[in-house]
Amino acid sequence: MRKKAIVFDIQRASLHDGPGIRTTIFLKGCPLDCLWCHNPESLGKKRQLSFNIEKCTNCGDCAKVCENEVHSFINGKHLINYNACDFSGKCIDACNFNALKIIGSEMSVDELMLEIMSDLDYYATSGGGMTLSGGEPLSQFSFSMELLKQCKEMGIHTCVETSGFVSIKHFKEILGYLDMLLFDYKVTGASAHKKFTGVSNETILKNLDAAYLYGVPIILRCPVIPGINDSEIHFNAIAALDKKYPNLHSIEILPYHTMGNSKRISIGVEETLEHLKTVPPEITANWIELLRSMGCNKAKMG
Ligand code: SF4
Ligand code: SF4
Repeated sequence: MRKKAIVFDIQRASLHDGPGIRTTIFLKGCPLDCLWCHNPESLGKKRQLSFNIEKCTNCGDCAKVCENEVHSFINGKHLINYNACDFSGKCIDACNFNALKIIGSEMSVDELMLEIMSDLDYYATSGGGMTLSGGEPLSQFSFSMELLKQCKEMGIHTCVETSGFVSIKHFKEILGYLDMLLFDYKVTGASAHKKFTGVSNETILKNLDAAYLYGVPIILRCPVIPGINDSEIHFNAIAALDKKYPNLHSIEILPYHTMGNSKRISIGVEETLEHLKTVPPEITANWIELLRSMGCNKAKMG
């Protein structure tokens, strides 16, 4: 069976998703719904129409070619019925201003391997490899497993960036195909985790434990969002994880930024944290200093 998944981005020469120069594959679909998500286009498993209002001139050419009446204009405002789109791509071809695109394309493991293999020289000279991200890549377990297996067969270093929200059985099965894990630690406390991400952290913490005991090098990735998890309780919990898991590779602090807002609007979803601004570097430096004062010397800017 040729497994396929919806891929919403492939980033070549990535320097921030594990060691060396990497090719990062982003799969669509995530069971979490974090308020601050900076890749809101990754949440749904299906393809999506995206509209950039800044580029639109209201010329109306898209409406002329769309058979599903997705585009309409009322009082000079371009309205979009996202749910009616069948992804024919006709409006995208008709738009001369690059204001429309379809997010996500179906790709097989073989097709992705061709992309990954074309960067073999970079991996060899830099100690890089392939990183699987999303969305939550492990929610498409069999596809991710197959891709990781093929990478390992080709001797390619593998990383997975995960929320850890996947069945313990599947998670344990995948550990043997990983050279590194980029594991998110988002919110401290079961009810707060559920409130801000939509899911419980119970399985996530068990999976973190399993990965550590298995011996996969782990980079703990901690998004810090003002007013949500920039509390002493949360920083203490991060420091406690560092003590509990002394062989963690590193702990990356990822400050909130507003990049997700425009993406949300472009796919017809309401902004969730529109009052928040991108966190300046000096605030992030303060958080890291606080963590270090708690004995967490692995904390660094992500
Ligand atoms: S064709 Fe492009 S520029 Fe013209 S109205 Fe449609 S989205 Fe806007
Ligand atoms: S992709 Fe096709 S169905 Fe969707 S809005 Fe454009 S023309 Fe209409």
